[in-house]
Amino acid sequence: MNILEKHDPDIYTAVSQEEQRQRRNINLIASENYASKAVMQAQATVMANKYAEGYPGKRYYGGCENIDVVETLAIDRAKSLFESEHANVQPHSGAQSNMAVYHSILQPGDTVLGLRLDQGGHLTHGSRVNFSGRHYNFVSYGVDKETELVDMEEVLILAKKHRPKIIVAGATAYPRTFNFKRFGEIANEIDSLLMVDMAHVAGLVAAKVHPSPIPYADVVTSTTHKTLRGPRGGIILSKETHATKIDRGVFPNVQGGPLENTIAAKAVAFGEAMKPDFKKYSKLVIKNASGLAQVLATGGLRIVSGGTDTHMVLVDLRPMNITGKEAEETLDKVCITVNRNAIPYDPQKPRVTSGIRLGTPAITSRGFCGQDVNLVGELILRALKHMNNNSKLLEIRNDVVALTSKFPVPGIDDL
Ligand SMILES: *Cc1c(COP(=O)(O)O)cnc(C)c1O
Repeated sequence: MNILEKHDPDIYTAVSQEEQRQRRNINLIASENYASKAVMQAQATVMANKYAEGYPGKRYYGGCENIDVVETLAIDRAKSLFESEHANVQPHSGAQSNMAVYHSILQPGDTVLGLRLDQGGHLTHGSRVNFSGRHYNFVSYGVDKETELVDMEEVLILAKKHRPKIIVAGATAYPRTFNFKRFGEIANEIDSLLMVDMAHVAGLVAAKVHPSPIPYADVVTSTTHKTLRGPRGGIILSKETHATKIDRGVFPNVQGGPLENTIAAKAVAFGEAMKPDFKKYSKLVIKNASGLAQVLATGGLRIVSGGTDTHMVLVDLRPMNITGKEAEETLDKVCITVNRNAIPYDPQKPRVTSGIRLGTPAITSRGFCGQDVNLVGELILRALKHMNNNSKLLEIRNDVVALTSKFPVPGIDDL
């Protein structure tokens, strides 16, 4: 018998039910994935018991000799995986990574240029309800109304006008590649730093199936749990010239003791991402996203920017006269998990929206490809068409469960 089951049945039951949900549902949340069993095992180790404030070889606690081995491996693997001069593997999350970078470079009130939040920027890119928008003066660039691509002319104009200390490139809901090279040139021209937040595409960058920001950016922040498929956490990569500042920005500026169990799991994930299988996986993630976009477009929905270069598809539901909220709730009923998302220049309120954001990292980790992805697209279309027909929705739900029952889940089913 499982020890947790005996020791704390309430928690055990909720965890088991979550395993069942993850098996049963088609997960199209673009920011989620399934970490491997090895990653999860590393995270569930005694490394969690240890205080290790400081950095390898320079700790504020005794007994860190094994912790140092683990953190040094994580740092070395991150540097080699992303071909970066410096890596800090301690941030607890993507948001903490950004906070540490801002803290190490900016003074309160300093100006930063980032992508508009209603066009794909993240909360930490200047939202008024986030520390970033409260402590710093964020100015935003947007996407072109016609092409729905980042308007580099506008970036240049705003950069020259506002002279930000940092320009942030990167997004939480943008299906295309950023022109990192051009962002770097603009930052150089106005003597600003370029920070790329590659939280969403880090795995694709690691697999070299997406352009790398490393050659052009002063600092690159990321999560480790999205396309990179590691434990929930963050990382900061930078040029050597910023290394000391960035390390101090993480500890002691914004964090205390690092989560060394998570750092062990990050090291395992970086190791996995170096293998040929991860490149195959990442290629398939992008292929599956393009396939899904195509099926939905054929079915009458509009794909924002006309397609995708990444793992993500942003869908405009207006051709079917459905809101993002309705679509999310309908798809929930048939065990397809998505999130409502604003589309560029969305006429609906942020809580309603006209779009949904879909991503293929999770289903691709389960082995979905080709026909399976087409079927996912068709199930979505059917559910949206029959939004108000509960018996039809029940039928579709059964088809979803029949599909997912064929695909084991990494980390749960011994993969
Ligand atoms: C997900 C994300 C983050 C935040 O990551 P958390 O781990 O949720 O804090 C930051 N920036 C971007 C662009 C993201 O997509």
